[in-house]
Amino acid sequence: MLTLGLLPGPTEVKLHHINHYLAPIVDVLLEFWHGFDLPVSSKHPTGKRIRLAVICCSNDIPAARKLCGHISALVGCHRCYKRAERNGDNKRPNFGGFDNIGEWFRERSVDEHRRNAEGWLSCISNEERKQHVSDTHVRWSEMLRLPYFNPIRHPIVDPMHCLFLGITRWIVKRLWIENRKLTKSDLELIEKRAKRIKIPADLGRVPDNIATGDGFSAFTADQWRSFIMIYATPILWDLLDESDRKILANFVRACFLLVSRIIDRNSLNEAHSRLLTVAKLIEEHYGSEYITPNIHLSLHLTECCHDYGPLYSFWCFSFERMNGILGEFLRLINFFLRPYY
Ligand SMILES: [Zn+2]
Repeated sequence: MLTLGLLPGPTEVKLHHINHYLAPIVDVLLEFWHGFDLPVSSKHPTGKRIRLAVICCSNDIPAARKLCGHISALVGCHRCYKRAERNGDNKRPNFGGFDNIGEWFRERSVDEHRRNAEGWLSCISNEERKQHVSDTHVRWSEMLRLPYFNPIRHPIVDPMHCLFLGITRWIVKRLWIENRKLTKSDLELIEKRAKRIKIPADLGRVPDNIATGDGFSAFTADQWRSFIMIYATPILWDLLDESDRKILANFVRACFLLVSRIIDRNSLNEAHSRLLTVAKLIEEHYGSEYITPNIHLSLHLTECCHDYGPLYSFWCFSFERMNGILGEFLRLINFFLRPYY
């Protein structure tokens, strides 16, 4: 791993202020892009010239948006022309409505994005910038100084956040538990059934406290992945009605296809079709307000596979584990630096 910088806390850097931290990193990346001479070695007695480029940004959604100058995921998609809608009173912004998918499921124009980002730079007041972002959904990012950078395709949809922390958790907790499709007694039964399933040691077990609190409390991305791909079908099937079984079956099949080590175009097409079916089923049986940014973004996952290969080659699992190690360091430092009275 090449660490170019860690942003200081204590709070997350806001919106375009990230550009202050990106600017020196982009300066270095520009030098790499123009070419860099490695020292002479026995293998290369005259030295060796190399070039480096950033071709993939793997983040959660808010970070990807901030990094590349896109507006919040609650407002619109950064890869296609779909905008969130708020149909009806008190309905949350959502990405429902698939009848006109042909009109909006088209790749955004990079040239248009760059033009709008440069337009943001020429705004002369905060008010003007706010209006510009509201009109175009774009603000400036220092990453755009990289001549090769593609702000539409380089920020991938991270499968870990999208499929497991996002959609799996949403389906189980919001669709089924909050709508009382799964009751407290169902959760206790699910917990009993889960305890009886023995899985290989290298696959993460789900915690034993499924029925505690609101249900499925504090599951990690790994645990959601294990739950949906191993446990969910055998232990939930008889507790769900027909429409929810279809949602589960299509979603589990899509996950299985996408997490394969080797994946071909036919599998990608099937995975995309299954994810679209899941989205349409959720809209049909629960309403368009249940179509979240993650459900919409899952429709772009197969495009990311076409660009970067199977999911495990670009998902955030390994990076998030590193974050966990860094967090543990911070906890230890705070512990040893605590004041004694
Ligand atoms: Zn989209």
